[in-house]
Amino acid sequence: MGLCMILRAKYVIPNSRTIIENGAVAIQGSQIVDVGFYPTVRNSGSPPIRDFGETVLMPGLVNAHTHLDLTSSADSIQRTPKFIDWIFQIVGKRNPSTIEPSIREGVQQSLAGGATTVGDIDGTGESVQILRNTPIRKMVFFEALGFSGERAAMGLARLATYLGAPPVPDSLLTPALSPHAPYSTSADIYRQCVTSDLSVCTHIAETEEELEFLSSGTGAFLDYLEAFGISTAEWHPPQITPIQYMETLGILRKDSLLVHCNYLTDADVELLVQSGASVVFCPRSHHYFYHTDHPVVRLVEKGINVTIGTDSLASNWSLSLLDELKFLARTQLCIHPETLFDMVTYNGAKGLCLAQVGRLEKEWQADIIAIQIPNDGRPPIEQVLDSSSENLLTVVGGKVCYTSNH
Ligand SMILES: [Zn+2]
Repeated sequence: MGLCMILRAKYVIPNSRTIIENGAVAIQGSQIVDVGFYPTVRNSGSPPIRDFGETVLMPGLVNAHTHLDLTSSADSIQRTPKFIDWIFQIVGKRNPSTIEPSIREGVQQSLAGGATTVGDIDGTGESVQILRNTPIRKMVFFEALGFSGERAAMGLARLATYLGAPPVPDSLLTPALSPHAPYSTSADIYRQCVTSDLSVCTHIAETEEELEFLSSGTGAFLDYLEAFGISTAEWHPPQITPIQYMETLGILRKDSLLVHCNYLTDADVELLVQSGASVVFCPRSHHYFYHTDHPVVRLVEKGINVTIGTDSLASNWSLSLLDELKFLARTQLCIHPETLFDMVTYNGAKGLCLAQVGRLEKEWQADIIAIQIPNDGRPPIEQVLDSSSENLLTVVGGKVCYTSNH
């Protein structure tokens, strides 16, 4: 097969430590076959050349946590500092007629915002088939939940059916599991999830109310379960932190993604370090719920693999990971631009256990974006983080999936 395409730009950033001026990336099929100085790459054949001029070519962004099936429900949700009030608004919002348009719209918005990969929560079991025919790379997490009694039994049965015939992976789709959260999901469901070989993701240590519920069984989550007629009679609070609880259930593994981790003790952080699990920080969702002081700097300093997610449009202002990155850069001034770059590219791919994704290297997947920058002489990564930067092109597995009209 001949070369399909050469992309050229003023800067190519194959990874956070390398800047190539007057660079190019050559693509063949779904893979990158050459990255380097444009005159050298050009010598490798005579395919069509797309010159992006004064821009940056870099790895596509990885949105490690989202719920695309909620995209079209977003308008009807009121912002509130009370997480429980938000959950009450969300319950029942996914109806069969909105799931498919929601997911398709969510994919389009993700690609436009520079994401080439998403970690998507499948809240109904229907997302996986809809996503299979979309051009974005995805890990699709089948959501398992059910706190007690009949609901927990139904959750386990649904999970067993799924595990009996899990979706077949393809070149862009990897199936995975998401036990929802400790206040909605029984210990048995959590344990069942880790018996499979699939990656696992869970919402954890998100609110102070969750900490209270696990330590004493009281508070807003007790009210929530009672309001839905869900029995807590058999519930014995483990009297430990959410992260410690996950440790006892076997969830802290190298291939696990722990979403949020807003409230952590030092001992929790040590458990995360030892486990090798990845954390997904959702900066704007964190802000949406009026949380402050996420321990992200501590996690980065400890060498934990920190990835970034938008969460759903029901708790965010856009699904653009480029917007998320800019917000992160504005609000986390202690984190180096290179580290932020890693968090939205390679770390995300590592968190989702995707090989050869997240950097521009020979034989790696051709997941590439072209970012318009202000061209003000600052280091190129800082210019990518600038509020005026804009995504012009999204390529997934060698295919152009989005081109800006500008
Ligand atoms: Zn979520």
